[in-house]
Amino acid sequence: MRLDGKVAFITGSGSGIGRHIAQVYADAGAAIAVADLNPKAAEAAAAELRAHGAQAIATPVDVTDEAGVDAAIARTVAEWGSLDVLVSNAGIQIVAPLQDFRFDDWKKLLSVHLDGAFLTARASLRQMIASGRGGAMIFMGSVHSKEASVLKAPYVSAKHGLEGLTKVIAKEGAAHGVRANLVCPGFVRTPLVDKQIPEQAKALGMSADDVVKKVMLRETVDGEFTTVEDVAQVALFFAAFPSNALTGQSLVVSHGWFMQ
Ligand code: NAD
Repeated sequence: MRLDGKVAFITGSGSGIGRHIAQVYADAGAAIAVADLNPKAAEAAAAELRAHGAQAIATPVDVTDEAGVDAAIARTVAEWGSLDVLVSNAGIQIVAPLQDFRFDDWKKLLSVHLDGAFLTARASLRQMIASGRGGAMIFMGSVHSKEASVLKAPYVSAKHGLEGLTKVIAKEGAAHGVRANLVCPGFVRTPLVDKQIPEQAKALGMSADDVVKKVMLRETVDGEFTTVEDVAQVALFFAAFPSNALTGQSLVVSHGWFMQ
């Protein structure tokens, strides 16, 4: 599973899952554009990759900004001459009961996950078609692409939506040698989840410890969090897979929480 000579644009790679995917892809030989809303985090992640001998640039971007996304992809292509792998991973979480959900929060969450995936996929596809090299697109879904949980109406809606987008791109991209896949992790201990634990504890009237044991990990087979390494290895598998055989597929990586 190698990515030598490939260029990967990874959104949300200033933190958590995306940051680790960037490291794993760099170890597999790819040049990395660290695309993140937080410019300091993007610079720090790119500097860390370079310190390990990788080729990496920071491309600060808001994935909901059409012009910004197009410019960040163009900058990546200007740097290395191509774009071979998109990992659309940037995401946020906002939890609340549906009856209290603020419309602004609903729209914000859908925009980061769905507008972000659309805009980065469109800009990447245009580039992959122009280069004639094709490519791979990996979208960061969730167990919540398959399953629902309380307090997460927009997140579950967005993550289900990404499964549909993945399948459309698999069909439309085939003529251009572009594959699309969805990675669906269970709970991973990142800043996104750490923020949610006290929020869920408050909303559900239980302790933080109980949220972890009785809500987040209850359905796993081993009571373990999924790790950034678990997720990054699946993302590498999809990016480096040598044929179109798996295009359009999703893979749940959740320690048995959800089995399809
Ligand atoms: P994280 O908070 O550690 O990292 C998310 C990154 O996305 C941050 O660096 C943030 O700056 C960036 N980001 C947020 N909004 C952005 C925007 N508009 N434009 C560009 N960058 C933006 O979170 P994480 O846990 O690593 O989550 C990454 C992805 O994995 C998300 O799509 C999330 O939904 C998904 N996911 C996470 C878990 C989990 O348990 N942590 C489980 C399943 C799926």
